[in-house]
Amino acid sequence: MTEIAPVTDPRDLAHLRRCVDLAREALEAGDEPFGSLLVDAAGVVLFEDRNRVAGGDHTRHPEFEIARWAAGNLTPEARASAVTYTSGEHCPMCSAAHAWVGLGRIVYATSSAQLSEWRGSWGLEPGPVAVLPINAVAPGIPVTGPAAELADEVRDLQRRLVERTG
Ligand code: ZN
Repeated sequence: MTEIAPVTDPRDLAHLRRCVDLAREALEAGDEPFGSLLVDAAGVVLFEDRNRVAGGDHTRHPEFEIARWAAGNLTPEARASAVTYTSGEHCPMCSAAHAWVGLGRIVYATSSAQLSEWRGSWGLEPGPVAVLPINAVAPGIPVTGPAAELADEVRDLQRRLVERTG
């Protein structure tokens, strides 16, 4: 497995902060706290979404929506040069969707390993899908993360989710 570099670029951090705001919006709307953006090669935000699983469909992850939106709206070249920002690293479903539609780099605020460790420390059972890094599912995708300065905020949102769901 290649070593993933942490986030240091202030432009990346600014986009990740928006992802964390979307995650908070999702939590406050009764969904799970995850948010993501798709940004073009010039730094323009093309699409953003947040988790929408409260209705019972647990595939409603923002990274999956991004992949489907990109497939329908962007040329293969534009997809390859776009960057996906996300508050939490892609799950295996979203990593696969990302790779199948030919999207480019991913930048995440917190890793799946961090989330899994936090949830374990709160006494939660593992979820139904294996915890795998993006590159274990999609080996060709350049990945940057995590962003240490956002970890506490993301962990707090996840903690609030646990307190809500009991
Ligand atoms: Zn996912």
